[in-house]
Amino acid sequence: MEFSKPKGVFLGGRWHEVSNGRSFEVFNPATGELCMQAADASLKDAKRAIAAASEAKEFWADLSHTRRAAYLLKAADIMEERQQDFVDALISEGGSWIGKAMFESGYSVEALRAAAAMVFHMNGEVLPSEHGKLSMAVRQPLGVVSVISPWNFPLLLSVRGFAVAMAIGNTIVLKPSEETPLAGGLLLAEVFAAAELPPGVFNVVTCSRAGVQEIGDEMVANPAVRGISFTGSTAVGRKIAAQAGSLLKKACVELGGKDALIVLHDADLERAVNAATFGSFMHQGQICMSVERIIVHQAVADEFIRRLVANVKTLGSGDPASMSGVIGPLINLKQLQNVHDQVTDAVEKGAELLTGGDYEGLFYEPTVLTGIRRDMKIFREETFGPVAAVITVADVEEAIAVANDSEYGLSAGIITRDEELGMQVARRLETGMAHINDSPVNDEAHVPFGGMKNSGMGRQNGKSSVEAFSELRWITIERGGRQYPPPFNEKL
Ligand code: NAD
Repeated sequence: MEFSKPKGVFLGGRWHEVSNGRSFEVFNPATGELCMQAADASLKDAKRAIAAASEAKEFWADLSHTRRAAYLLKAADIMEERQQDFVDALISEGGSWIGKAMFESGYSVEALRAAAAMVFHMNGEVLPSEHGKLSMAVRQPLGVVSVISPWNFPLLLSVRGFAVAMAIGNTIVLKPSEETPLAGGLLLAEVFAAAELPPGVFNVVTCSRAGVQEIGDEMVANPAVRGISFTGSTAVGRKIAAQAGSLLKKACVELGGKDALIVLHDADLERAVNAATFGSFMHQGQICMSVERIIVHQAVADEFIRRLVANVKTLGSGDPASMSGVIGPLINLKQLQNVHDQVTDAVEKGAELLTGGDYEGLFYEPTVLTGIRRDMKIFREETFGPVAAVITVADVEEAIAVANDSEYGLSAGIITRDEELGMQVARRLETGMAHINDSPVNDEAHVPFGGMKNSGMGRQNGKSSVEAFSELRWITIERGGRQYPPPFNEKL
């Protein structure tokens, strides 16, 4: 790929060198090799990007909705043609298994197409009026929307963050994660440049971790920014939501999780084992909806655990580029240390380690722990690693209580042959999403995606993104029916 040298930041439809001339290095987590150098934007560059977006916002909002959709559809076609570049970037920067990279790049194309369709859903309402006025609820784009995305699904979560917002007439400033600037932003800028998107509609600023606080603050506080789409950790998201709230700006924050997979007494165990293995180990457990707690009924616990361990032992590890295994590296040393600290803490407090528990480089072995108790870090803190943590419970009531004993509330899975029971459990879970007879890891471009409690605020995708990134206004036309109190009327 061409991107070994910094191409700069993409603003106003062109690549620009950053004002400070700085760059930062991005490493391949599997090999430790340098992937690329990315431009390390300064505050001045962030301001320029926002100014470019602000300049383009009226033109873009006024463009007919079918023309806006056409740009997104063209970009989707180009992205599809360049899928291999995205796959390569997802593997080299992000440590993605080939299957995950193919899925993510393919699904991102679909998400762009689905977003294009949302131009037809920027709908308002005609309201009844007490005075016979023409009374309308009208949707308008917010203006400039800042999008900040994480490294774990860098492409998809950037696209999810901006696509509908852009389709409905907002202009975008995107800041991808410093771990994945290429898949999360720079390749997207190339795609939109090739689609000949009008200048300023889509802007990308990359910066190092050292600069992110200042750039992030600007992306929220700059007066031209009217909406914020953030996907990432709860700690950062809380700060961004608080800052946006204090400035009375709309913010949609999609944050961390500690999702439960509940395996009930009547579960189809093959389905349960498959959902648990996929949910806990897909992308090394680095998904916000990863299965971080498996809550299993005691009636099936022994059989489930035996089959889960056997299945997990079949998952091979290796450099994703060599296609040698489904388990790739963790993204960085900090993540690895966090995973190992949680596993060690659990074992010290009495959990049983059935497989895994060790690491080499950034490769953490697929790990299964049983006997998880509520005083262990792994019960409460987001792990974001390839670990299945199993908790055995006596009955359905205890399963629900354990699942809800979390500061997080993103998604959940419930495995049962009794769909009615599954629905009863789903309704009582404190999560934004719940899936019966499936893993919690689910997304579709039109569904209301998002969490409760510390997993976030707001919903993304489809109509939810239309609501999140538009302003609903009330506009009326008076047609002679409204009378003011007589003392205020002109005395002829
Ligand atoms: P992170 O919060 O460290 O970073 C996310 C983004 O925020 C990055 O672009 C980063 O550069 C930026 N950032 C960091 N500090 C900032 C600051 N002070 N101001 C502004 N921006 C700042 O998260 P991460 O490690 O990249 O991603 C992993 C986390 O994301 C996990 O907690 C995971 O659960 C969560 N996540 C949530 C969802 C969801 O949809 N709910 C999806 C994926 C990941």
